[in-house]
Amino acid sequence: MIPAASSYHLANARVHQSITQDLSATFDADGFALADIAIADGKISSIAAHGGSKAPADAIDLGGRIILPCFVDCHTHIDKGHIWPRKPNPDGSFMGALNATGADRALRWSAEDVARRMDFSLRSAYAHGTRALRTHIDSVAPQEEISWPVFEAMRETWRGRIELQGACLLGIEGVRDKKWFDRLAKRVAAAKGVLGVVTYMVPDLEELLDQVFAQAIKHGLDLDFHADETDDVSAISLKKIAEAALWNGFEGKILVGHCCSLARQPDLEVLDTLDKVAKAGLAVVSLPMCNLYLQDRRGDAVTPRWRGVTLLHEMKARGIPVAVASDNTRDPFYAYGDLDMLEVYRMATRILHFDHPVADWPRTVTATPAKVMRLDGFGTLAAGGDADFILFKGRSWTELLSRPESDRIVVRAGRAIDRQLPDYAELDGLMVE
Ligand SMILES: [Zn+2]
Repeated sequence: MIPAASSYHLANARVHQSITQDLSATFDADGFALADIAIADGKISSIAAHGGSKAPADAIDLGGRIILPCFVDCHTHIDKGHIWPRKPNPDGSFMGALNATGADRALRWSAEDVARRMDFSLRSAYAHGTRALRTHIDSVAPQEEISWPVFEAMRETWRGRIELQGACLLGIEGVRDKKWFDRLAKRVAAAKGVLGVVTYMVPDLEELLDQVFAQAIKHGLDLDFHADETDDVSAISLKKIAEAALWNGFEGKILVGHCCSLARQPDLEVLDTLDKVAKAGLAVVSLPMCNLYLQDRRGDAVTPRWRGVTLLHEMKARGIPVAVASDNTRDPFYAYGDLDMLEVYRMATRILHFDHPVADWPRTVTATPAKVMRLDGFGTLAAGGDADFILFKGRSWTELLSRPESDRIVVRAGRAIDRQLPDYAELDGLMVE
């Protein structure tokens, strides 16, 4: 359907208002309009309302199929990915995940092991239509010395196909070792990475957060937190991060993931937190599939009654940038997943009610994470922008989100890519005991 030519026209494409720039057209109640798109030399040379002027006679008629810009996945763990067959989560709990992953890391995460699993993950993400991806990198000593060089090499290998970002990952108690954390921050800065920690309600949380902010300011790093991934109402580290950002006068970007406990807290507490989050300029990413899997798991013969996700609607209404992302894939934190952002969006639509109206929720997997990751021109369709988009079979939200769209066409720099997914058997050699 997409020609190999360097320039061609697509007619009758369905584009969404929230992620298409400078298109004057009449958008319907679902936010869609039909457009004609000209492609030349890897770029989108024009987007115009369908039938308005002059789509040439040889334009390819897409019959109203949906076109979305390539996805941006701002929270993943491709260093952990695909270890499930050799290290499953024994009971599906958060502690089960933490312990199983820690044991596997200590025993198995050589540079080759990490590299092969990362590459497998990136090939899947690329085939599904992802153009940029941020991964957390377990950086508990001595893993940081193994994984960061692998990440840097992988980023080079994948440049031009997937823009790869890395954020270090360690429990905030690791910051107490000032010398070591100082070294880690330097290492992350050298790799042009992002400074990340997991916050817990430890007694010295405020002091430790100040050290994190101090290192970020010193090295000019953006920040990325895992916060409050629990149903414990006393977990308020999201608020503590916002307060720390304000009193440290932090000017970089801050992304906070999970924030599950917020959904369990009383309204007044929630309002106070959201005020501070908005004021501090924090962005929030929800990980709906992982949250659904780990949260509210209470053991044998008990049915979960809570979805696990945070308050994205309330945040968006206050102007807080919100995203959704993949999080873990086939590791003890989530037994499933393939870094398919259409699956994430489809699941988010069901779990988080991204519908009726769809409004600007499509930005959560495209334009908003692109902004958080400082990727200009990613996550939107725009005249003059890169011809990086996905062409689906679906012509409406109900068609798009009812099937896996495994036959979608991914176009990069104007050309349809080979969408072959890696074979699981490739990993078998890494899975033997
Ligand atoms: Zn995560």
